[in-house]
Amino acid sequence: MAGRGDRPDEPAMRSRSGPVRAGSGRLPAPAAPIAPLSWDYAPAPESREIVTIAPEYGLFVDGEFAPAADGAAFPTVNPATEEPLSRVALAGEADVDRAVAAARRAHELVWGPMPGSERAKYLYRIARILQERSRELAVLESIDNGKPIKETRDVDIPLAAAHFFYYAGWADKLGYAGFGPDPRPIGVAGQVIPWNFPLLMAAWKLAPALAAGNTCVLKPAETTPLSALALAGICQQAGLPPGVVNVLTGAGRTGAALVAHRGVDKVAFTGSTQVGVEIARALAGTGRKLTLELGGKAANIVFDDAPVDQAIEGIVNGIFFNQGHVCCAGSRLLVQESVAEQVTERLRWRLGTLRLGDPLDKNTDIGAINSREQLDKITELAAAGEAEGAHRWSPPCELPARGYWFAPTVFTGVSQSHRIAREEIFGPVLSVLTFRTPDEAVAKANNTQYGLSAGIWTEKGSRILWMAQRMRAGVVWANTYNRFDPASPFGGYKESGYGREGGRHGLGAYLDV
Ligand code: NDP
Repeated sequence: MAGRGDRPDEPAMRSRSGPVRAGSGRLPAPAAPIAPLSWDYAPAPESREIVTIAPEYGLFVDGEFAPAADGAAFPTVNPATEEPLSRVALAGEADVDRAVAAARRAHELVWGPMPGSERAKYLYRIARILQERSRELAVLESIDNGKPIKETRDVDIPLAAAHFFYYAGWADKLGYAGFGPDPRPIGVAGQVIPWNFPLLMAAWKLAPALAAGNTCVLKPAETTPLSALALAGICQQAGLPPGVVNVLTGAGRTGAALVAHRGVDKVAFTGSTQVGVEIARALAGTGRKLTLELGGKAANIVFDDAPVDQAIEGIVNGIFFNQGHVCCAGSRLLVQESVAEQVTERLRWRLGTLRLGDPLDKNTDIGAINSREQLDKITELAAAGEAEGAHRWSPPCELPARGYWFAPTVFTGVSQSHRIAREEIFGPVLSVLTFRTPDEAVAKANNTQYGLSAGIWTEKGSRILWMAQRMRAGVVWANTYNRFDPASPFGGYKESGYGREGGRHGLGAYLDV
């Protein structure tokens, strides 16, 4: 891809010692021929040395790491290189039984009766350790997930710590949270999380549950177990009583055994709509509580009066952040027809400046796709887009020979019936549609089975409010995208799930109210 600095409208006059500003009084050096400058970034890899990955890991149950009861294990690989990283225990039903029993004991004997002000101390301690070990965790997450280090360093890890800090503050104030004077915890929470933000999703699940007085059994995704295991180690380091947090690594059937377990009082799931539906079926009629955070196909809507450069950044952030592995990704760009050409042209230029490659390089914008399976899914859906007649475009870009990679891709000429406009691709693929009037934008934005998020770009505040009221989406961003804060609730409409995570609302999901 092109280097930064070759923007067509950028001042061309530069000297070796930096750009020459108009009116600065400096003149370019005379006579001596100046070699053409390369504006390519030098490699800036983050060191791997800060992380020690053990050759094998056990399950974290009752405060200790131990192999699965039947000795089963599976490998986890670096998706950027396909290099095996470690072997991780695969939990079966016996392990689920043991973990749920440990969580029950801890809930009844220690964590449930403990005053909120004491629970808070543990959460603050975990938050501080996350901060202290942030560099190590950022590298570990990049290696196991494939996402760029600048995202793990600046988003995943700081936000994970922020969730623990935020909910630590609630632990002794539950009586003032609007759920009655003495809200009670639910009991044992079974929590299943996906691979797109492994540590952050663990924090989203654990922090509110623990603050409210529940104990937890967490099942991380098969392809990204390492940061959840590191978090288990942090729980040990923080002196968290045994059984309060248990981590069961494993496959889909481990998750299925956990959510079906009768000893689990509350299930929290983030992942695909398909699995969410299976879980809802399994829990129907049991009286056990359930929150689901599922897929999305968000509209990012750009009006003709939007500040174009900012909107372009918002579009890029909306769909290419985290390789598009984001449930609230702005995967459908709805752009007003009168500016569609200008916006897509500018977008193409901007995509040419993105750097795809080594996730540990600090200049990398787009890392690896998380797994071969996910790469196959993205490839199949992109091929369907072409077959259905949309126009496919990617910037010139060399993909690394090993690992799982997909170039950032933009489809124009997309109609609402195309699969790429309807199905969650969960990859760096943007579908561009156009509209003429605000009513048409609303109709197209809401024309989806999902309803997790939306973005609106316009300079008129009244239009933002008018649009936001009409969006059937849990989160609506205005003149920004993908902003997260622990104090802000997050969740879906329609097939994007139910229940809210984050903020005061997120506490309610873990209280018997
Ligand atoms: P899944 O929904 O299958 O996985 C999410 C989590 O659920 C993982 O921990 C998974 O375990 C576990 N799981 C799988 N099957 C079951 C089950 N029957 N009962 C309980 N837990 C289960 O997502 P995938 O990783 O397979 O991704 C498939 C598609 O889902 C993606 O292409 C994307 O479109 C969408 N997706 C959406 C996410 C979102 O946040 N909206 C997040 C992830 C995926 P394991 O990893 O071992 O399979």
